[in-house]
Amino acid sequence: MSSAAKNPRRTFAIISHPDAGKTTLTEKLLLQGGAIHLAGEVKARGQARRARSDWMKIEQQRGISVTSSVMTFEKAIEGETITFNLLDTPGHEDFSEDTYRTLTAVDSAIMVIDAAKGIEPQTLKLFEVCRLRSVPIITFVNKVDREGRDPFETLDEVADKLALDVSPQMWPVGMGGLFEGLLDFRTGEVARPEGASKEYLGTRDAGAAIPDAYAEEIELAQVGYPELDLEAYRNGDMTPVYFGSALKNFGVEELIDAIARYAPPPRPQPAGDVQISPERDEVTGFIFKVQANMDPNHRDRIAFMRQVSGTFKRGMKLTPSGLGKPIAVHSPILFFAQDREIADTAEPGDIIGIPNHGTLRVGDTLSEKNDVRFTGLPNFAPEILRRVQLRDPTKTKQLRKALDDLSEEGVIQVFYPVIGGSSIVGVVGQLQLDVLVSRLEAEYKVEAALEASPFATARWLKGPQDKLDEFERFNQGNLAHDRDGDIVFMARSPWDVGYQQEKNPELAFSATKER
Ligand code: GDP
Repeated sequence: MSSAAKNPRRTFAIISHPDAGKTTLTEKLLLQGGAIHLAGEVKARGQARRARSDWMKIEQQRGISVTSSVMTFEKAIEGETITFNLLDTPGHEDFSEDTYRTLTAVDSAIMVIDAAKGIEPQTLKLFEVCRLRSVPIITFVNKVDREGRDPFETLDEVADKLALDVSPQMWPVGMGGLFEGLLDFRTGEVARPEGASKEYLGTRDAGAAIPDAYAEEIELAQVGYPELDLEAYRNGDMTPVYFGSALKNFGVEELIDAIARYAPPPRPQPAGDVQISPERDEVTGFIFKVQANMDPNHRDRIAFMRQVSGTFKRGMKLTPSGLGKPIAVHSPILFFAQDREIADTAEPGDIIGIPNHGTLRVGDTLSEKNDVRFTGLPNFAPEILRRVQLRDPTKTKQLRKALDDLSEEGVIQVFYPVIGGSSIVGVVGQLQLDVLVSRLEAEYKVEAALEASPFATARWLKGPQDKLDEFERFNQGNLAHDRDGDIVFMARSPWDVGYQQEKNPELAFSATKER
């Protein structure tokens, strides 16, 4: 039978607004799950030691922090051991392309909402990214140990703002000071706070008496919303909703259970017109993230590959789509490596860290036979564009190298105007600019200032060659090439884009570009 069935995987991310409790929940998930790979953990379980020391050595040697990029844990659920790969999404208020790309590498997501605050701006943005790719979402309404909104209000907000059907799977019996526990609709058991800390310590009562005031509300919740429809959830049309407290450990076990039961196993991935199934024999995968060295004396990077198919073995030769000739993957960082026999292999759904010197780029496909190109890892039209001014004009070459490198890593996008000297960098969030300036100085010894540019956004141009040529003749001052040499229209305002689109109906002004 298929390897996917023998080694079930759940590869997921947590999306939330800062402070909703993502970090706390992550810690609790790892603790519950008997984490194989836990940052700062002193005690490694038996066989795990070798694998741990492997990547710790790599981190030390290369000064790369890969520790929290992928967290793997496992748990036996109804006799079946399931491996969970939790991918970290950077926790900034700023939306970054890095976050987006991480979401292209997961099969599902948990959306954490603060019970008192509901849907916040960053939650919404990340949710929209998930929707673009039909990533199914399980909702976790956190902090029910504190005074929060009425749960009905939260459910209705999720339904309205996200246009999702909601299906509560649990219910808080009281909240804040009145919090009496958490009722699991599936089992009918109530998890109750215990001891001075009022935590969940593992006791559950079946058929526990629930005060009348709550019993009525709970009945309403059970009849007032649809039952969980697995297909609707997996299509991204319905979200099962869990309540809990990451801090006090309520609802965490139920949440792991829900991922195991309902979240999809590794999904087929689009490659042009075809879908590559995890059942395919040959190894395929795509790079969704490249992390550079923190040590400026090294040029090493770690490329993170989401494995799509096949069984990966250490030393295997894979061909990156951007290179055309195979590379041997001798020292992969395997996050799933808790046991000696399988420490050198990885399965679909797993993430492999591949050390390299800049040959691997975000969006690259790796495959054994060089016969697959995964699609759907777009670049986004930047929302902030800045002109890069060198302080020391003799460093033009270094700057160009740095900008090319950093755009390969996906930190920024770079545009070289057809007319005029200085390069323009584009980002979707301010934070990326801060990262750019500090890395230019620290790693490339290039001092540069970012100045206002006349442009507000950029669009990739496509269309019949004669129309493109004609457009280019008249709009030289608004054209640039991206790092791949593709032609880009630099717009002074969003209005400008609309105006040109109307004037040039044969041309496509695209806000995304797929490599
Ligand atoms: P992140 O920014 O989403 O990673 O949020 P954190 O996990 O760092 O949590 C933000 C704050 O909320 C911290 O002070 C946590 O202790 C607190 N917090 C997280 N979960 C809970 C919870 O379930 N109940 C309460 N009362 N506080 C929580």
